[in-house]
Amino acid sequence: MAERRHPAERVPPGAPLAEMRDRAADCRACDLWEHATQTVFGAGAAHALVMLVGEQPGDQEDLAGKPFVGPAGRVLEEALVAAGLDPARVYLTNAVKHFKWIPRGRPWLGLELAKVRPRVIVCLGTTAARAVLGRPAVIGKLRGQPLATENGTVFVTSHPSAILRAPDAASRERGRAQLVADLAQAAKAAATKA
Ligand code: SF4
Repeated sequence: MAERRHPAERVPPGAPLAEMRDRAADCRACDLWEHATQTVFGAGAAHALVMLVGEQPGDQEDLAGKPFVGPAGRVLEEALVAAGLDPARVYLTNAVKHFKWIPRGRPWLGLELAKVRPRVIVCLGTTAARAVLGRPAVIGKLRGQPLATENGTVFVTSHPSAILRAPDAASRERGRAQLVADLAQAAKAAATKA
């Protein structure tokens, strides 16, 4: 009988992130892989205190095979530095690993969370928040509130792409400042949590 479990569920317990990444590269569990160039698995420090979760790979990530490249990645990197977080010491990933979001294909995120075991998870955008929290999330209501979950303390903030889509320079500047403030709060929580 054909194996019905999701490929993420077949990863042996204790497998390193590199093995997860290799297995995810061959994942065909839903049809998103058909229209994508490649799997975009998470990247960053293997035992990062802070994990940032986006929604799905964008077109530039699809081509590069890495999360958070392109303009949104630059906004995020600048905000991380401004918030006192070293971009090399966080773990960056997306809820879904193939380009084009539809609400499925999240099991790989669960494995990354279990492996990296960050103290703090920052959800970038409502889709990421819904994937991590398992319920609908409104950024305006949840922003600034540390949420205790079995995977770590969760913060919800805007996706850098949404900041770039703001209609004018003043709104974009406000968005960047808010992102920095949210990341600084997450950094503080990661540094002080026992
Ligand atoms: S989106 Fe996720 S579940 Fe679907 S094929 Fe890609 S890696 Fe597999």
